[in-house]
Amino acid sequence: MDFGCIGCHGESSGAPLAFYRNFFEDIWTRCQVYDMKHGRYVLKMMTSSDRRRGASILSSMLLPAALLLFSLAFWSPLIAQNDDAMQQARRLMVKRQLAARGVDHPGVLRAMRTVPRHRFVPEDMRAMAYADQPLPIGHGQTISQPYIVAYMTQVIDPKKDDVVLEIGTGTGYQAAVLSPLVEHVYTVEIISELAERARKRLSTLGYRNVTVRHGDGYHGWKEHGPYDAIVVTAASEHIPPPLVEQLKEGGSMIIPVGSPFRTQYLMLVEKRNGEVRTRTLMPVRFVPFTRDN
Ligand code: SAH
Repeated sequence: MDFGCIGCHGESSGAPLAFYRNFFEDIWTRCQVYDMKHGRYVLKMMTSSDRRRGASILSSMLLPAALLLFSLAFWSPLIAQNDDAMQQARRLMVKRQLAARGVDHPGVLRAMRTVPRHRFVPEDMRAMAYADQPLPIGHGQTISQPYIVAYMTQVIDPKKDDVVLEIGTGTGYQAAVLSPLVEHVYTVEIISELAERARKRLSTLGYRNVTVRHGDGYHGWKEHGPYDAIVVTAASEHIPPPLVEQLKEGGSMIIPVGSPFRTQYLMLVEKRNGEVRTRTLMPVRFVPFTRDN
């Protein structure tokens, strides 16, 4: 008769993984007997000593399980507290840095209140995540000040069905802010490591309608165009013509224009009735738009 057999043996030695592997291999070998008559291995019935060994193994598993439960119970409230503190910091940021300076698009304010900026900045910068300033993100690049992100998002007036192109993914934060406001965000980043990290981060945080590509954004991303809106987050010496081409009739592009060490201006580019109109909005400071050689 074939019977299952639970737990046979239980010396705890060596690394935990090796221990459990040995344990299960041991169960397997001890539970098999060779059936001479039929010329095959069958599982034998559990004996009382097998049961005792099984009980001892199970009890040796209780301590790690209890420790795991204890640490979960200990850390969860701290994590929850930290999340509450971050949410509170976001609310204050929206009130003092955005609403107070005239950002009034309800969707933009909602997105800025919801997207966990602290999950986008480097870990050693988390305490500063909601401060009124840009922050370094590695590779000599920066994540823009919250107000600039909100302002640029509001200026393009995002709509539910819009398909948006962003040039300069960086951490993925601007794309995450756009994500709940539009149909899809395509974003291009020239530094491969930043692109890879942003892709993972956005996917972990559940931003399913954002697609990241590594490449030189000067050429836009023709396959998915034309776009309802384009957001450029690095300062270019001129407005790249391929981006203007990939802008839909009726669409808007926001782009910082100027040299790295001189005053740059945020410019709004609009395509209306086949004409391209540009408007200067405000002086800004962005990292430079670089090119692949
Ligand atoms: N929007 C980002 C921050 C942008 S920083 C965020 O929310 O975190 C500007 C980014 O533009 C940098 O990561 C830089 O590497 C990228 N960049 C510069 N020139 C580029 C180009 N030609 N194509 C694509 N990305 C570019």
